[in-house]
Parts: sequence; C-alpha cells; structure tokens
Amino acid sequence: MDGLRPSEDGTLFRLVGWPADVPPERRPVAGLTRVSFGNFVFSDDEPPKAVVGRRQALAARLGVPFERWTSARQVHGNRIAVVDEGDIGRGRDDPATAIDAVDGLITRTEALLVLFFADCLPIYLYAPKAVAVGLVHAGWRGTAANVAAEAVRAFATAFGVPPADLYAYLGPGICGRDYEVDEPVAGALRSAYGPEVPGLRPTGSGKYRLDLAETNRFALLEAGIPAHRVEWTRRCTTEPEAGLYSYRRDGRAAGRMAAFIALPPGHRESAPIGPV
Ligand SMILES: [Zn+2]
Repeated sequence: MDGLRPSEDGTLFRLVGWPADVPPERRPVAGLTRVSFGNFVFSDDEPPKAVVGRRQALAARLGVPFERWTSARQVHGNRIAVVDEGDIGRGRDDPATAIDAVDGLITRTEALLVLFFADCLPIYLYAPKAVAVGLVHAGWRGTAANVAAEAVRAFATAFGVPPADLYAYLGPGICGRDYEVDEPVAGALRSAYGPEVPGLRPTGSGKYRLDLAETNRFALLEAGIPAHRVEWTRRCTTEPEAGLYSYRRDGRAAGRMAAFIALPPGHRESAPIGPV
C-alpha cells in the first residue's frame, strides 16, 4: 500500500500510512519534500542562507527543532553511520560538519535524519520495539554495494534489532520504465545479486532497465525483513504530476529533495520498557 500523502499546500509528502500495522501514534515522522518547496542542498546556484531558511521551514512544519537536523555527505557507497547525541545537528547549516561519506543514517536519538534525492531511492527503516529509525540513499552504485543490507545489519549490530523486527518503506525514485543503464551497471549488480537480478531487465539493444525499488526490496528480504513488512510507493520521480526532482529528466537544473525521518512524537511514553 502507498502510505504517502501530499500536504494540502503540495510542498511535501508525509508518510502517514506507514507502517500499516503500527498504530498511527507510534508511526515515525517521515516523508519527503517536493519541487515546490525548493532545493535542499547547498550549491553555487543560490546563497546558503536560502537553503538554511528552507530547512528551518521544513523542521518547523514537522514540529521538530531545527537544531536536531542531521545530514550526511552522500557518496553512493554502503557505509552506515549510527547517529548518537553528539552527532545531532551535524550538517544542518554547514556542509563541512555533515557526517562524512555515508549513505545511511540510523538512530535511537531525537535526531531528524535528512538525506537528499533526485531519482535515487530513499529507504525508510523503523524498529518500533527498539524505537529506532533509519534512512538510506540508494542509487545504482549503492544498490550494487548492497547499502540496504548494510543498514539492516547496522540495526542488529548497533541496537540489537533482529531483521524480523524491522519495517521498511521504499520511497519514490526513478522507476523501471524510465531508468536505462548499460552493461557495466548490469555487471556490478550481477556481482552483488547473482545472474538474475530482480528489477534488472534487458531492453534487447545491449542496454537494461533498472527498477531500483524492486532490486532493493529483494535486498531487504534477503537481509531478513519479512515480506509483509516491506511497503513501497509506485510514484516515480520523472512523472511531472508527482512534483518531484528528477536528475534524469532535468539534468543539472534539478535541485535536491529532502527525505526525512525522526522518532514518533511522544515515543518515550509509548516505548516499551526493558531490553530491546
Ligand atoms: Zn517512471
């Protein structure tokens, strides 16, 4: 089922319906911004102040203090960072302080985890019993490096969360109809997933089409998350009506959307007591 709901003003999607079998008051604060909210990464095209202002506005919309905004410098790899109290706020108004060279963040703190997207796939993770959340950035390189499975492993290592206790949601990325890749990409994916890569289909002309959501869904199931706990949207970043940034569609002119996740509000009261 598709748990994404557009806000009334159209500037963002909230992931209000996920996980479907967790009561709404115990669902994390999660979603992503749309083009009409503007670009969320620092670039030469606009003053940093404009980007910081947008970030502050988003945090206010979510009811989370901007001071908790925590971002990474993404490198299309498979490293996952465990965000602790000392990391909260890194990268929020200065890219030099961002958590360096990671493509997944997980936490049990009150950080607002934020990563940036324009076609790559956002993967949201939630462990309600442990009250832990995570966010992953997966393009083809990260998918070939199995960043999704690394994130599942990080929940086990850092928080003792078995994969069976995790929920996952695959947000909007570029879909399998619109994402053409060539043989080196196909080869890298085969090295990771074997000769038959779920989501990779030959077009007949030496090229392939890749469905990042399908491949990453497979990766999450292989890592041990039960199938009924993996949900996804079928919205695609290239569809104009989705109102999302697409690097494949817009090239250099594309900004970056902010995908975000934080613990459910009031989680302290609803969290189970005892070991997780
Ligand atoms: Zn598409």
